[in-house]
Amino acid sequence: MADMTNREAVKHGARFLEQFGIENAEHDSRELFMEASGMNMTRYLLDASKCVDKAVYEKFEGFIARRGQHEPLQHILGKTWFFGHEFIVNRDVLVPRPDTELLVEQALSELKKKERPDVLDMCTGSGCIIISLASEINMGNGMGADFSDKALRTAKINAEKNGVENISFVRSDLFKNIPSGISFDMIVSNPPYIETAMIETLSEEVRLFDPYEALDGDGDGLKFYREITAAAPAFLKKGGWLMYEIGCSQAEAVSGIMSETGFGDIKVVKDLAGLDRVVRGRLK
Ligand code: GLN
Repeated sequence: MADMTNREAVKHGARFLEQFGIENAEHDSRELFMEASGMNMTRYLLDASKCVDKAVYEKFEGFIARRGQHEPLQHILGKTWFFGHEFIVNRDVLVPRPDTELLVEQALSELKKKERPDVLDMCTGSGCIIISLASEINMGNGMGADFSDKALRTAKINAEKNGVENISFVRSDLFKNIPSGISFDMIVSNPPYIETAMIETLSEEVRLFDPYEALDGDGDGLKFYREITAAAPAFLKKGGWLMYEIGCSQAEAVSGIMSETGFGDIKVVKDLAGLDRVVRGRLK
């Protein structure tokens, strides 16, 4: 590394990552360099031709080695961006995905029409959905439920970090611990929806680092849609919304489950890649 510049260090890191089959190697290498050095993009560009600091390089090398082992970039950075907000991530929660921003947009399109709506996020994970919603609207009763205590710990930190204080986080196996008698204007959920047999085909980043329970939707991937949809009417106001993120091949099945359970106005919404991503409906 003698006399290596910052830019050369990033190039070197990128080449290493490429050898380990990492896509976007250049991008990831630069992000990791900025994290190791504390530089923002402007500073990095201005200082690209300066000599790399030894301590920075050592830290950077450590990050690059981890990324080379397919640890997700977000785990190494300990954070990610979702809907314009920063969220901490770790092994206890599914890394928030850009795809899920569509669910937030769809939810907001209805919630904005209501005065202080009450919203439940079932299987909240990192809390990214309910926290993003609460940042955009004046929410009434906001609740995030998850089976995992560890996930809830992270969700609470994320709520605090984003200055959203009025959400209650509840440890609950689906609706078991949601007090009966509470009803919501909307239930949103991005539940685990991967078919069990497909999990081994996922990338190492997902398969080895996202919590298994956040992925596994059982044999046909639909278990949580069935269970949540069956229980949801008891926790929804009349005309209340149920909105799901789905896997791109699940639109027909999930729409069917919802219409059989008394939901109407069912719509499927496609993501930016043109894939079915959200199913939404309303309690008749
Ligand atoms: N609701 C969380 C998210 O969208 C967690 C989803 C999950 O664990 N399947 O990130």
